[in-house]
Amino acid sequence: MNFPIAKRIADLRPSDIRLMTRECERLGGINLGQGLGDLPAPPEVRDGAIKAIQDGRNTYTPSEGVTPLRLAIAEKLRRDNGLTVDPEQEIVISNGTTGAFAATLTALLNPGDGILLLEPYYGYHLNTILLQGLEPQFLTLNPPEFDLDEAALNAAVRPNTRAMVLCTPANPSGKMFSATELAIVERVAERHNLLIISDEIYEYITYDGRQHVSPASVGRLGERTVSIMGFSKTFSITGWRLGYAVAEASLASAINLVNDLLYVCAPSPLQYGVAAGLEVPPEYFQHLRSEYQRKRDIICEGLNDAGLTPLVPQGAYYVLASIAHLGFADARSAAISLLEQTGVASVPGSAFYQSGAGESLIRFCFAKDDATLREAVARLRKFRS
Ligand code: PLP
Repeated sequence: MNFPIAKRIADLRPSDIRLMTRECERLGGINLGQGLGDLPAPPEVRDGAIKAIQDGRNTYTPSEGVTPLRLAIAEKLRRDNGLTVDPEQEIVISNGTTGAFAATLTALLNPGDGILLLEPYYGYHLNTILLQGLEPQFLTLNPPEFDLDEAALNAAVRPNTRAMVLCTPANPSGKMFSATELAIVERVAERHNLLIISDEIYEYITYDGRQHVSPASVGRLGERTVSIMGFSKTFSITGWRLGYAVAEASLASAINLVNDLLYVCAPSPLQYGVAAGLEVPPEYFQHLRSEYQRKRDIICEGLNDAGLTPLVPQGAYYVLASIAHLGFADARSAAISLLEQTGVASVPGSAFYQSGAGESLIRFCFAKDDATLREAVARLRKFRS
């Protein structure tokens, strides 16, 4: 049938992550391109969901999510994020962080509004922004520190800019914003009356004793921040599709209206599983951190040995490596060549930048079991020789 696709998706293309995954499968390689997180889910989470199914919790839930989960999240926000929120009115459970982000954009911004992204950015953020007919605007943060500069941030705001996306710890850079940098965000956001949308899906995956700082906990930022958090990475349940938005009541109610229309509710028994999971002892989170830190160190050492200089991440489970000195025409040819020579798939840095800065970087995901990671590193080491 000769039927034109919708204009709103005409410019969207499948990401290089998919391209590299396809190539990797064709060549039977090890895929360090995509982030899946294949640690086992905690038994509390698994058993909580099984029990909920056995108890017949199979029907729609309120669009904002079941009460036990919202209560558990409010307690977690108090304990771990320094946020005091009303579980009745300020939390909306959605279909993953992705669902919460889409519902937030739809509920709070209008087509044509400008929204600022810090690059390197997470591709879904950009594409969801484009899907909504918003105008993405960019500020490049520079390696190795990816520090936020107040003058540069002020200069990046345009007359139509209404919001800014933060991601901390960030995918793909692993950058964690400090309280000082978030105070800059507060000043700029107040000056230009911006909404802050803060994706904190990697909040528990932090390294070298660094503390995650939730933007909403800094100064008066809470008033204008939608915190987007989720369970995919924390409990290694990317396929369960559970995340949530936290915002002041009038914003949360608008997000909930859209959440209802888009998803009706998040999967009912899985909400109970995750509510049980939030009662895991603190050692669970320590173990998660130390496991990923060990994996980070394995890959960074391997990358160094291979002559692919790693930009050691502060959090999340990706590492960008510099290929500037290797003489490739662009990041995609470097990633393809690496895959062909070593059988290890990465993602070209261009997938995370509008500017050309990504052409000298490739990204690896190290959320893999140890045997796979060690095999990948052994293969990467041969790249140099
Ligand atoms: N946000 C970031 C920054 C991510 O890296 C990812 C997954 O890779 C997601 C959101 C997806 O989260 P969810 O599974 O909760 O939709």
